[in-house]
Amino acid sequence: MIAFLGGTFDPVHNGHLHAARVAAEALSCPVRLVLSAHPPHRPRPEASAERRWALLELACAAEAGLEADDVELRRGGPSYTVDTLEALRLRHGDESLSWIIGTDAFNEIRTWRRWRKVLDLGHLLVLHRPGAALKGAALSFYREHRSDDLGRQPAGGIRLLDQPMLPVSASAIRALIAEGNDVGHLLPQGVSTYIRRHGLYARSD
Ligand code: ATP
Repeated sequence: MIAFLGGTFDPVHNGHLHAARVAAEALSCPVRLVLSAHPPHRPRPEASAERRWALLELACAAEAGLEADDVELRRGGPSYTVDTLEALRLRHGDESLSWIIGTDAFNEIRTWRRWRKVLDLGHLLVLHRPGAALKGAALSFYREHRSDDLGRQPAGGIRLLDQPMLPVSASAIRALIAEGNDVGHLLPQGVSTYIRRHGLYARSD
């Protein structure tokens, strides 16, 4: 089994790292963090893809078992998850693959390009994000494909982990920095130092 946590990582924060650690333990496998260079479903990230990649590499370098993956960065164009999973399937052959996702993002899955194809290519490991209960079509999709043992097949199952996640978001962190607050406790140390050194997310006026 190998697992991937995709994100805009604008910036990567302790909530992401905690989620990756919990997933690695639940699945007993390494986790790779995939930078969504050009996220198609949201406003353009504040930091450039190069800056976000530098932050992600710093965060992963300090964590045993986590690695940054540039599969979407190298591809160019919009970062659709289904295209990424196709590339990962080619790279990893018949190995079991899991795409890690918070409940907030999973609730939007029906807006994803070719969303039903995702489960042909990998599993979904859904993490319960504070304030985002599963609902609507995402909840039905989960019930239809629920599996508590993803390792048995290369793809096709959805597992929901009920472990607590940290109430941290990149948007809240960007807002705090713009208002001049110290956010060191919400970020890996190398990430915090890099952000300060390069003046990222600071208000420009
Ligand atoms: P933003 O606030 O800008 O939307 P974010 O903090 O949600 O950013 P993303 O890079 O968009 O971060 O998230 C990437 C993935 O990580 C998504 O699947 C998201 O649900 C998940 N995630 C983000 N923060 C957490 C957290 N604190 N706990 C668990 N999962 C998280």
